[in-house]
Amino acid sequence: MLILTCPCCGVTAEETEFHGGGEAHLTREGPGSDDAALEGYLFHRENPRGVHFERWRHVYGCGKWFHAARDTATLEWFGFYPAQTSEPPEALLEQIRQKRPGWRWRDFA
Ligand SMILES: [Zn+2]
Repeated sequence: MLILTCPCCGVTAEETEFHGGGEAHLTREGPGSDDAALEGYLFHRENPRGVHFERWRHVYGCGKWFHAARDTATLEWFGFYPAQTSEPPEALLEQIRQKRPGWRWRDFA
């Protein structure tokens, strides 16, 4: 069972109170974008074994969306932060680098 903390209202609860919304920090493509960019937006997602940034919604609470960083192998949460960001906060990235030396954001094979 995953335990999450909503950064919007501060409630800590089991994952059944939340709903996962997929990968965070996607670049949205729309009319006017080229086919490759649109295809990437629609169909390509990161699926790392390790650090992953995700969207979550506090469905049975405040109802707001937020972002979370978690290790998909160990299920360790690194942090939660508001969804109104285009990149993870630098403090969170530094915290992850300290726990996972050599890790870099969006550095996948
Ligand atoms: Zn909430």
